[in-house]
Amino acid sequence: MGTSLSPPSRIAHLEDKAPTVSTLCSHSSLQIFHGARREGFRTLGITPGPPPRFYEAFPLARPDRFLEVPTIRALPEYSDELRRDGVILVPHGSFVEYLGPEAFTRLDVPVFGNRAVIEWESDRRKERVWLESAGVRMPKRYETPDEVDGPVIVKYYGAKGGKGFYLAKNRAALERFQPTGPHVIQEYVLGTRYYIHFFYSPLSKDGYRVGSGSLELLGMDRRDEANIDELYKLGAQEELHRVGLEPTFVVTGNVPVILRESLLPQIFDIGSRIIERSIELFGGMVGPFCVEGIMTEDLQFKVFEISTRIVAGTSLFISGSPYSDLREPGLSMGRRISQEIHRARDAGRLSEILS
Ligand code: AMP
Repeated sequence: MGTSLSPPSRIAHLEDKAPTVSTLCSHSSLQIFHGARREGFRTLGITPGPPPRFYEAFPLARPDRFLEVPTIRALPEYSDELRRDGVILVPHGSFVEYLGPEAFTRLDVPVFGNRAVIEWESDRRKERVWLESAGVRMPKRYETPDEVDGPVIVKYYGAKGGKGFYLAKNRAALERFQPTGPHVIQEYVLGTRYYIHFFYSPLSKDGYRVGSGSLELLGMDRRDEANIDELYKLGAQEELHRVGLEPTFVVTGNVPVILRESLLPQIFDIGSRIIERSIELFGGMVGPFCVEGIMTEDLQFKVFEISTRIVAGTSLFISGSPYSDLREPGLSMGRRISQEIHRARDAGRLSEILS
């Protein structure tokens, strides 16, 4: 997955050129622009077609200017122009998904964070190797239906947008499942979901030290998922299945949550392990990441997914969260990203946070 420019030559011009913080106008872009503006950066919104009209309703988050592209897939053709303008691209879930993980990895434009992480996250098997070898507890994975000894969730490869899942409460119920493509069978973990917003700074020398930098906890949310969140109101799963109603996990919004304080050591331990292992496997993950899991009644956190960039749930905390306020009042994840760009630039260490 090579780019034509080596990472140092992609970044060198930023040492003496004022950077412009840019991202695709979607997902958490309002927060990213808002944070960048508060840090004094110029901002550029990338839009396939005309800029979204609702941006006009948010003057503090609207980017200074827009780059209209015919489709997001055409973005690589604008690489020279973006580099000339001193653009730093901030990845978010929709940006990487719409452009495609491979194309994103090959972009000849400076990207915030270590782009090598994309390869480890976009393949669920590699992601499991990373997390399990870090010593992180994950839902059990069954190789065959015969091994199933409890409730399971079946996930089709590449299931997008929360559709393409199948729930079975035991092995007998799983026998009725007729697969239509490659899938994995995973333990269905019973408990409560938490989506933990971390930031790893390789530059910081204070706080909760991990590797050569430090790990920050900036917030937590829970995703609202349709139709699973309300499906129970219609009765038991099997009955629903008989009438052709299957659960889906389509994210429609987010709600803020906090964890019992006594569970924070466990959460920090998981975050540290993930970072330490990332340093060994691919030179380290930098910036925002989200650990997504379920706290069981035995108070064990099982991680079903990791997002290796800013997640949309952080937009709940544009004016700070119950955690980020204990570091710096009013600090959002979007602003934290731009702060790191500032600090790295002042210290001549941009190559450690951009790729
Ligand atoms: P994923 O695509 O892996 O992020 O999963 C989408 C949604 O499915 C999650 O937000 C959870 O609500 C649910 N989910 C995923 N894996 C599990 C699991 N092993 N046990 C229970 N729920 C799960």
